[in-house]
Amino acid sequence: MGRLGESPPPDTVTCAQVHGNGVLCLAGDPPALSGTEGDAIVTAVPGACVGVRTADCLPILMHGPGGRVVAAVHAGWRGTVAGVATATVALLAQRYDLTPAELTVRFGPCIRPCCYQVGGELIGAVRESFPRWANQVLRERPGGTYFDLAGLNRLQLEAIGVRTIHDDGACTGCRPDEFESYRRDGRSSGRMVSWVRAAS
Ligand SMILES: [Zn+2]
Repeated sequence: MGRLGESPPPDTVTCAQVHGNGVLCLAGDPPALSGTEGDAIVTAVPGACVGVRTADCLPILMHGPGGRVVAAVHAGWRGTVAGVATATVALLAQRYDLTPAELTVRFGPCIRPCCYQVGGELIGAVRESFPRWANQVLRERPGGTYFDLAGLNRLQLEAIGVRTIHDDGACTGCRPDEFESYRRDGRSSGRMVSWVRAAS
């Protein structure tokens, strides 16, 4: 994860992000993406670097044993409801024979329930798709409902067997000195790139 003003490595491969659950593969020689649009990229190309752009959405980085297989995931609320993180883990299992328990997962800075007041569309979608977890991730406070985006991703990943999730809990809304936030700064906000490089 970079800091404000820092650029990602010039060879970072990203794609057009569409707030869905599509997972692209970077593979071949020379390496090419399996599509143009998606919200996650996986690769086992030695030395390849993949990344996602976020402002308040949750960036998730994953790697398997030895860092030979890596993934970068962009999880906004729509992608989270669509299961983009678990779709990525499923593809890692199918394509690279990795079990969820073998993965190391890292959550980057995103908007947290301290700052993420949400409305009816999101609340309805979360309640419909995740009735068991809705009361855990939708928090009622005076003035409104606040959503735990990272919490819902954690619950989804743990439910399919992921054991190792690192998260320092950083909130993009609370830390203007360090992170970009679309919700806080509107259209003038920048974007952060979270990236991970496969072992070479
Ligand atoms: Zn906050």
